[in-house]
Amino acid sequence: MANPQESALHYPLGDALPAPGTTIEIAPGLRWLRMSLPFALDHINLWLLRDRQHGIDGWSIVDCGIDDDTTRASWEHIFEHELQGLPVLRVIVTHMHPDHIGLAHWLTERWSTAERECRLWISGTDWNAGRMASQSTTGFGGESAARFFARHGLTDPEALARVRARSNYYARLVPKVPGRFRRLMDGMALTAGGAASPHTWHCIAGYGHAPEHIALHCAELPWTAEAPAAPQRHGVLISGDMVLPRISTNVSVIDIEPEADPLPLYLKSIAALRSLPAPTLVLPSHGKPFTGLHARIGQLQAHHDERLAEVLAACSERPCSAADLLAVLFKRKLDLHQTTFAMGEAIAHLHALQGAGRLAGVAGVDGVQRWRTIA
Ligand SMILES: [Zn+2]
Repeated sequence: MANPQESALHYPLGDALPAPGTTIEIAPGLRWLRMSLPFALDHINLWLLRDRQHGIDGWSIVDCGIDDDTTRASWEHIFEHELQGLPVLRVIVTHMHPDHIGLAHWLTERWSTAERECRLWISGTDWNAGRMASQSTTGFGGESAARFFARHGLTDPEALARVRARSNYYARLVPKVPGRFRRLMDGMALTAGGAASPHTWHCIAGYGHAPEHIALHCAELPWTAEAPAAPQRHGVLISGDMVLPRISTNVSVIDIEPEADPLPLYLKSIAALRSLPAPTLVLPSHGKPFTGLHARIGQLQAHHDERLAEVLAACSERPCSAADLLAVLFKRKLDLHQTTFAMGEAIAHLHALQGAGRLAGVAGVDGVQRWRTIA
């Protein structure tokens, strides 16, 4: 859902967007590029960090795009024109979702040499989850997902048939995950920037969107957008999908962890980002670089509070399943892809309220899970 309070945020780069195969400098040694996505969400932002590893100058890539011909061709263009003839030294991935990790296998192979492997850096949890999903034809999507959605009230046979048919959804976008990785953990410091201007990025683990999402914060980097003569030093946050300016982060329960309660994890994770300076430049995976981090966190918290209240109100009138809540929470027509996301989100809100003791589960004779508000 588009953010109705977007005007509270500021876009220091204005309407500038990197054209396919090109980059825009955000700060010295930090460049922004975009890859297209064949979904309703039609792009992902990726980042290049000037780097030096084992005495070799080059670049680190942050996030990859999905594996398709368009994205590979776009990368080739970047390699040729935007890297100043330097190699890619490592591939840092914020989390295991296809648009972020899809081409990690190709990028790391493309840039590994006999002397040196171009390494994937990612949280251990997301490496495992991505690797499992890319090799699996069951457990992600397919029959298991169809059963899960049916239990939550999605009864339309056509929709369920299409969910069943999507069992290779992840593997199609992420055919492979590199077999070796370097583990990112919360609080870990990475040095980038090259010999001329080394600077430190700190890893910030976040939960509720992916198994163990890693955002990267650099307190030192001056960013320049509007007044290159007077760069500001309020720091930069590569926020991944944890904080986005226009849309709210997907927080879903999925079939492989059916009792999960991700919403409190997500809310706790974004609340922790308030400890970063308010004028931090946020580099999100979708949308444009923005300032207004604290305002956006407040908006996201209010957004989920409203949705929780809507769920409570609906479940006080009659016991509701997740499918019953789609019309309450999403006041627009959803395609199948959006419906599966919306179901996951509805279940996340129901589980959060159950966990807080506000809803009680009601087992129906039809096998559909419903909840009622505890008076
Ligand atoms: Zn994601």
